[in-house]
Amino acid sequence: MPKFVSFNPGPSQVYDEIVADFKRAVEEHILSLSHRSEEFQEIFSRAVDGIRTYFSLPTDYRIYFVSSATECMEIVLRGCCQYRSFHFVNGAFARKFFTYAQQMKKNPAQIVAEDGRGFDFGRFEILPDCDLVFLTQNETSTGVRLPYESIEKVRRAYPEKIIAVDIVSSAVSERVPFEMTDCWFFSVQKGCALPAGLGVLIVSGRALEKARSLAKQGREVGSYHSLLTLEDFAQRHQTPATPNVLAIYLLGKVFERLVKKGIEKVERETIQKAKMLYNWLNGHPSLRPFVPNPADRSLTVATIVLPKNWTSKSLQERLAPKNMAVGSGYGKYKETQIRIANFPQHTEDDLKRVQKAVDQVLPVRPTVKTTR
Ligand SMILES: *Cc1c(COP(=O)(O)O)cnc(C)c1O
Repeated sequence: MPKFVSFNPGPSQVYDEIVADFKRAVEEHILSLSHRSEEFQEIFSRAVDGIRTYFSLPTDYRIYFVSSATECMEIVLRGCCQYRSFHFVNGAFARKFFTYAQQMKKNPAQIVAEDGRGFDFGRFEILPDCDLVFLTQNETSTGVRLPYESIEKVRRAYPEKIIAVDIVSSAVSERVPFEMTDCWFFSVQKGCALPAGLGVLIVSGRALEKARSLAKQGREVGSYHSLLTLEDFAQRHQTPATPNVLAIYLLGKVFERLVKKGIEKVERETIQKAKMLYNWLNGHPSLRPFVPNPADRSLTVATIVLPKNWTSKSLQERLAPKNMAVGSGYGKYKETQIRIANFPQHTEDDLKRVQKAVDQVLPVRPTVKTTR
């Protein structure tokens, strides 16, 4: 039986060496390590240094560990939004963030893209009283990717606003121009090939300054996980609360290997595998990519529309005996679509395997061509 591979975007396939690393963590007593010990500070520093080196992070950008990507979003809303937030909504995750901003009484404004499509960055306007802007660079729900050139257009048009970018399902896989904007965040259960339970927040000195100035004005910027408290503890290579020490340890191991490989190579392979995936879908007799414009298609999460008489569940049930899992569609597309992730832990052979398996299961040559 070939090894089990999950192509679900998240939580996704974990890396092969995780068992050995986990065993080492147990042997080195990391599971009961004090988070105020020197050994923990070393684990913290190793993970931070790995991330910094892999991404060639500018020196005035800080790295914080929290519990999830969603939490990163809340921290940024509290710390960097004085008046109103503005959201580019290209799918369910971006929409969730808009909702949270409403709940936090940030009176958010939004531009909404049709599902499966990007935005017209030649024509957009952000209200003057919105001082924090959110973009979801890789919308895992719809499979829409925003090219960095378009994020740069937002930066150029509004140099004074704080811009936060969700890179949850694209970080690690492609190069990120961190200096372009102020706040970036991801969690580890997608392209980092780890179990869930850790969010990584990367912020510029400017974003931190904004939080400081809001706090000085007597505004509420959060408590134990405010940017200020996170920074205070990060100075000592620590976290405010007891963190998921094991996850930080494993993240250090993951980035150690990523640094060896180099982000250029990882990105090249990602693009190569994405090409293969979309070539398979283009002109496929029974499947089609949900995102019509090739320039909008995610490199790391392919959203795929199933033939009318199939559901994601029925396909998943047929793939399970072949020891692989694909993701269902997201939200209202749960039944009618599948999602296949193309993260660094998914090899070209893995992707060939899932393509072949899907082709074996689906009627490759339907007797009647369905029109939609
Ligand atoms: C998965 C995901 C999130 C949420 O991540 P959590 O770690 O569950 O908070 C946010 N944004 C995008 C684009 C995602 O793919």
